[in-house]
Amino acid sequence: MPKKKEPLIRVLLSKEEIEKRVALLGQEISKKYFNLEEPLILVGILKGSVIFLSDLCRAISLPVELEFMGVSSYGDETESSGVVQITQDLTRPIKGRHVLLVEDIVDTGLTAKYLLKHFRTCEPASVAMCSLLEKPGKSNGEILIDFLGFSIPDDFVVGYGLDFAGIYRNLPYVGIVETST
Ligand code: 5GP
Repeated sequence: MPKKKEPLIRVLLSKEEIEKRVALLGQEISKKYFNLEEPLILVGILKGSVIFLSDLCRAISLPVELEFMGVSSYGDETESSGVVQITQDLTRPIKGRHVLLVEDIVDTGLTAKYLLKHFRTCEPASVAMCSLLEKPGKSNGEILIDFLGFSIPDDFVVGYGLDFAGIYRNLPYVGIVETST
């Protein structure tokens, strides 16, 4: 049987660049929340933020709790469907707690906007947003990212948690899928 042709992935952010940036983000977050009385709650958005969150939480020198939420907004497509649906909710109340939403990428900002609104109805002490990546200009400045890893061009990226049709999440770098002719 002929072997399926593998798509070419052009490295956009190397493993080393990501490691350095995540370490700095951890320091920034630790500095901002240094005097909390209770652990900071990091809420990772499944599945894309899992790899980033696992590195980020180890770069934070404060007690943290981990929570996860499942949302679907993209399916297997590379264009936003515009509809955000919660498929898995938090397992504990966040009332009165400091919450940091951890995203893999902010594209149109629809998902982040929806989730931040959802969290605020749960009356946390504060909600902030951390995203590894952002495609600038696409959310019309509506989303404030308190802790940002990298601004990237408006290309579809994979790796370091980000997938295309379910694969590439385990790449140690972020890359652009090149469509071969
Ligand atoms: P938004 O609601 O900001 O348009 O999109 C957020 C979600 O869309 C991300 O959490 C991610 O799952 C998906 N997404 C947006 N851009 C990309 C991309 O370039 N690559 C991948 N793999 N997913 C993306």
